[in-house]
Amino acid sequence: MSARLLLIGPPGAGKGTQATRLSDALGVPAISTGDIFRMHLRNETELGLKAKAFMDAGDNVPDSLTNDLVRDRLSQPDAAGGFLLDGYPRTIDQVRALDEFLAEHGASMDAVVELVAEPDVVVERLKKRALDQGRADDDEAVVRHRLEVYAQQTAPLIGVYAERGLLAKVDGIGEIAEVTERIESALAARGILFTA
Ligand code: ADP
Repeated sequence: MSARLLLIGPPGAGKGTQATRLSDALGVPAISTGDIFRMHLRNETELGLKAKAFMDAGDNVPDSLTNDLVRDRLSQPDAAGGFLLDGYPRTIDQVRALDEFLAEHGASMDAVVELVAEPDVVVERLKKRALDQGRADDDEAVVRHRLEVYAQQTAPLIGVYAERGLLAKVDGIGEIAEVTERIESALAARGILFTA
């Protein structure tokens, strides 16, 4: 079915893992701005070179670059019937840009899933990921900074979407499959059904 969803939550809450599983079940593309930026870094594109210093420091890439990137991605044919955004929007300006894009296409969001996880838990998870995957921004000091950036710039978005009646809060602690089930039932309660 068509669904326009977004996953919001601190770094390490498990957004990427859940986004992949949900997008398979829903048949809509999972779009992770973090993954797209990392691909640009690897390929040393102009955008990658511009984004690198921000990403290494754990800061948000400037809104202008990020909004253009997402506008291009959401304009691809596979996103016309729906999408699951992971890691975007993360600032009020990005919410405004997404609203504008959707309005231009006569579309709107169906639900926003907040994955809730305590800072102590996510720091531990990201320490482990640093060992497994060697992501430069999983260094502990950078992780702490990413959590601050999340608290300052992204957490306020939760209130915005709650006011719009779109927010579903889901506990992100537990087995991966268990968390997926929680999200699926929170979405089902909003009429977003999984056929797979
Ligand atoms: P996490 O959610 O675990 O912090 P991501 O993979 O979503 O990891 O993001 C990694 C980095 O990519 C961020 O710290 C930031 O520098 C950049 N980034 C990703 N998405 C955005 C966005 N929507 N706006 C600005 N920067 C972003």
